[in-house]
Amino acid sequence: MSTARLTINLQALASNWRALDAKTDVETGAVVKADAYGLGAEPVSATLAEEGVRKFFVAVAEEGVAVRKAIGPGPMIAVFSGHMEGDTDLLRDHDLMPLINAPEQFMRHQQALPDHPFGIQLDSGMNRLGLEPADWAELRPKAEALNPVVMMSHLACSDEPDHPMNRQQLKTFREMTDGTASPRSLAATGGTFLGPEFHFDFCRPGVGLYGGMPFAEAKPVVTVDLPVIQVRPVEVGESVGYGNSWIARRPSRIATVAAGYADGLHRAIGGGIDAFSGSQPCPVVGRISMDLITVDVTDLPEDPERLRILNGHQTVDDLAEAAGTIGYEILTSLGARFSRGYVE
Ligand SMILES: *Cc1c(COP(=O)(O)O)cnc(C)c1O
Repeated sequence: MSTARLTINLQALASNWRALDAKTDVETGAVVKADAYGLGAEPVSATLAEEGVRKFFVAVAEEGVAVRKAIGPGPMIAVFSGHMEGDTDLLRDHDLMPLINAPEQFMRHQQALPDHPFGIQLDSGMNRLGLEPADWAELRPKAEALNPVVMMSHLACSDEPDHPMNRQQLKTFREMTDGTASPRSLAATGGTFLGPEFHFDFCRPGVGLYGGMPFAEAKPVVTVDLPVIQVRPVEVGESVGYGNSWIARRPSRIATVAAGYADGLHRAIGGGIDAFSGSQPCPVVGRISMDLITVDVTDLPEDPERLRILNGHQTVDDLAEAAGTIGYEILTSLGARFSRGYVE
């Protein structure tokens, strides 16, 4: 092994979907945008389709093409960015369903693909994507006459269950959609834990499937193994890495592994995390470089050939906390250079 390796456990992925599905009495879809949060849209979507997922969500039409290829005809693939200019051929040729976000998108869709199914994305307060209440009030009779396949909105603060924004958005979403015959959806991973009022006709988790918070009981899906390039002795008082930020206080052995911030192991992670030899944690010391990380392996009985930086003991959320970010960002920035393997 000379390159770092990202291993994705598809069984853990499927098990997380089943666990999230069991939290509600409604259908559970799957958000597979951004290449399934960096883990590979095709194997992830194929696994979930086999598990019974019938509603997939991507950010842009191009991503939907890869998902359609993986799962074949049948299941719904909805596109959060809606029907953008230039999307018509992809939407039609790959049976992708745009989630209409604005009156102009509705017009575009009606002109370009009048018989092609669509959904409606509503802005219930996040002010990011979706039709505003006033635009929706005007469009609703025309849109509803065409039977939108879904009506959905997205919560801004669902990872904070007590945040008043959750109920505020629930109220707005209800006001915008009550009385409709279309299936409705409001909850992503966080919303799944807010109670049945938030579930409507289906939930659409993303990050929880991949082992991230706010799904606290998620099984870890990703492991990352880093090959050790060399191990060196370091004397008391000698420093390691850029900026001399770590200085040996005992005679030490330092392993240098082949991965760094160019692989999404952010420089901001700094200290405070470990790399594992089996279940034995070894502290990461010194600054994380572009392609190299230094690890104190003094307490290991022998020099390791590889060290694992992501596993069941140290999760994407632990790395995220050390870097001052969220698990989503760690997942999606991992390893363009890593070799990827899948465990069925
Ligand atoms: C990303 C996204 C989701 C999934 O969110 P998670 O927090 O990853 O579960 C659901 N809906 C929309 C509109 C999104 O953008």
